Amino acid sequence: MGIERVNSRMSDIQSRILALQTQQATKTAAATSTATGTTSASGASFASALADAMGTQTTGAANKSYSLNSKGIPTELAAYGNGKIPANALSKVGNTNHKLWAPAAESLNQMIADAKAQGVTIGITDSYRSYEEQVDVARRKGLYSQGGLAAKPGTSEHGWGMATDLDLNAKAQKWMRENGEKYGFTENVPREPWHWAYKPKSV
Ligand SMILES: [Zn+2]
Repeated sequence: MGIERVNSRMSDIQSRILALQTQQATKTAAATSTATGTTSASGASFASALADAMGTQTTGAANKSYSLNSKGIPTELAAYGNGKIPANALSKVGNTNHKLWAPAAESLNQMIADAKAQGVTIGITDSYRSYEEQVDVARRKGLYSQGGLAAKPGTSEHGWGMATDLDLNAKAQKWMRENGEKYGFTENVPREPWHWAYKPKSV
């Protein structure tokens, strides 16, 4: 485990402790008091004790929760309609021209930065798609239901600004499968290992 990873893990964990102290999860409370009582514990063992106690953690923007509709779409986006999200609800990914729903972009930026600090390069090839762009992709790549790679226009996760297509080498693909979930990103389409959907927590 590199020092950047430990430091990043530690800050995750410290923010999780604050959140957890207000919950009454018995198991976690016990683990927290044990770990914080051991002032001589090294950073790494402190981190691993808490990580073990808490299981999969989410980090940064992925910790926030949103009002979602029955299909898991944030109600603020559902009101606009798929492929019709206004620019002010989208944010740029890094210094690219790619855009996602602002919380998804924030989490993706953090994920790309954390991966980079660990020597893993995550590129991005696609992001938000307007309705017109979905029509174009369907024409070029064929409908998924007919063996192609495009969702029916108006139904794509890209049309909500909640999915990104990533450029991943083997190392990065492995890293994503191990870490994507912490940032809210899920590999959820068979035949498309590059497609990662953002799944916000529900309030
Ligand atoms: Zn995709």
